Amino acid sequence: MGVAKHGEGTLGWLRGRNRERVLGALRERGRISQADIARITGLSRTTVHTLVAELKDTGVLREVEAGVPDFRGGRPSVLLMLRESSLAVVGIDFGHSHVGVAVADIGHNVLAERRCDLDVSHDARAALDAAARMVDEVLGEARVERKSVIGAGIGIPGPLDRARGTAGSATILPGWIGVRIGSEMHDRLDMPVEIENDANLGALAELTWGAGRECSNFVYIKVATGIGAGLVIDGKLLRGATGTAGEIGHTTLDESGALCYCGNRGCLETVASGPAIIQLVGPLNGEVPTLASIVELAVAGELRSHRAIADAGHEIGIAIAGLCNLINPERVIVGGLLSRTGEILLQPMRESIRRHALLAVAETLDVRPAVFVERAELLGSLALALQTSTDRMSKAAEA
Ligand SMILES: [Zn+2]
Repeated sequence: MGVAKHGEGTLGWLRGRNRERVLGALRERGRISQADIARITGLSRTTVHTLVAELKDTGVLREVEAGVPDFRGGRPSVLLMLRESSLAVVGIDFGHSHVGVAVADIGHNVLAERRCDLDVSHDARAALDAAARMVDEVLGEARVERKSVIGAGIGIPGPLDRARGTAGSATILPGWIGVRIGSEMHDRLDMPVEIENDANLGALAELTWGAGRECSNFVYIKVATGIGAGLVIDGKLLRGATGTAGEIGHTTLDESGALCYCGNRGCLETVASGPAIIQLVGPLNGEVPTLASIVELAVAGELRSHRAIADAGHEIGIAIAGLCNLINPERVIVGGLLSRTGEILLQPMRESIRRHALLAVAETLDVRPAVFVERAELLGSLALALQTSTDRMSKAAEA
């Protein structure tokens, strides 16, 4: 039997707990309808209605219009949001060659953001210093005081060793070996920080604001220089035992295939990653193209680029089919630079999934492009900060 806290189980205690669950849903979603609060919290509509009325009376909540009329063509539906929007979170995205920083209020409005080009991969400390300076700048621009910031989310472009708080692969971020990203950033910012890899952040951005809204089970796949997946199961990100869940790029497709930088042979990345596609396309007009230019050329109808990306889509589909057989998601959301090619990548991917997955799994699966490409990681780092900070606030309120 558990030890009951003072007042635990009484009506007043239960009411306080339910109120905190409603507030938790509002912090997590930013703007939300009463029906969705009931769905997320599992509370009855009557309970939600009573609590919302009380929170509106005391000025904690306010109503905002949804903007678009509902599908029945009626009046625009009314959404609720917290008034305490003076609280804010910070998001930091470290790419290989850029740093992005943004600040958002807990009503999910992005207040300011900026991005600067920097060689992040080879000089971790310079990148961490630059990020800390940019946090000062965006807070100033948004007129947000540092004491109002309840947490920061940080993204790095590669696997993460969650136990040590360091980058998990020296081959992806050579300058970050042994750097304790969390504590280094905490020292510079003086606020709670949370770290996550790029594919998981893309999944969080899509879950919170993009193609994964209202979807509890989906796979987000980032197809860019590398290939990684973020898995959302029952509305939560799956991180695995050490935080490397979703490394779909290192699924073996051909045991005797080319050697991968991870040390194995024939990984998906040896046939469908950025460097593999660049090598396959080869020089065009005497020049080795970048991945971005191959994407543009494919969209413009250049045959070699088009074919290389379509073939990558086919190979990625094989790995996704296996994954879908295991977790049976509703949706596969395709992000990253290559998703810019749209159906050139997606159509062969769908065909390949249909060919390699169980019929029951493939026929209900919806494969669609991500909403966010360029800002996926930065928005994901904000979503991570919002989620972890509000979880912390809810736990503190319950204690
Ligand atoms: Zn590999």
